[in-house]
Amino acid sequence: MLTILQLPVLNDNYIYLLHDAASGDTAAVDPAVAQPVLDVLAKNNWRLSHILNTHHHGDHVGGNLELKQLTGCTVIAALADQQRIPGIDRGVVDGDVVMLGKHTAKIISTPGHTSGHIVYHFIDDNALFCGDTLFVMGCGRLFEGTAEQMWRSLQILKALPASTQIYCAHEYTQANGRFALTVEPENLQLQQRMALINQLRAKNLPTVPSTIEQELATNPFFREDSLGLQETIQMVGKKPLDIFAQVRRLKDEF
Ligand code: ZN
Ligand code: FE
Repeated sequence: MLTILQLPVLNDNYIYLLHDAASGDTAAVDPAVAQPVLDVLAKNNWRLSHILNTHHHGDHVGGNLELKQLTGCTVIAALADQQRIPGIDRGVVDGDVVMLGKHTAKIISTPGHTSGHIVYHFIDDNALFCGDTLFVMGCGRLFEGTAEQMWRSLQILKALPASTQIYCAHEYTQANGRFALTVEPENLQLQQRMALINQLRAKNLPTVPSTIEQELATNPFFREDSLGLQETIQMVGKKPLDIFAQVRRLKDEF
């Protein structure tokens, strides 16, 4: 079994610590900062073997060098980003496999938020670490990619098994949900989900992870097919990519 710990850091970031008891391997996914990771390692008597970065932004790689220096861990990130990932040891490309003990993570290239963005799909563990590509009821901003690139990236994630757990790198859910309601106000599941999310956030509890199934029902960036959404944004029958691009624009202006 893969143990997954979620560490809230900075304003709204999540670092994930993945631990495989059989091998003793432990990975930190997108360590924005080092100290909270070091604290959890010490408390559990774990040794950091890997850092898995999804992209080069500071709130995802900020702890790389300190953690590498103190633990000797291997830093894995996109080959395309090798010039801008601090301490990178191994550059990976779409379809590559990363092992954590006997757990296999498949790399999926998901350009859009950044040109080199990748996600880690632990297939047998039903877990996806998706950085800033897919959020709960949202998706990443288009900093380096086009709407078409992001849309294609999301099509791949959309097709993963419905039960896949979605571990994204930010707690953006409440703001995302507020926007989602403006483009799909009559989506009953969305309304119900938002009520639950408001309760969780009132207690400062995480809304992550989610599942692909929940995102298919409530994430406006997964719902170009919804007639209600098409009607609200006045794009009935338009191409899915164009609808996606318009929803992304509306979110930027929200
Ligand atoms: Zn980012
Ligand atoms: Fe980020």
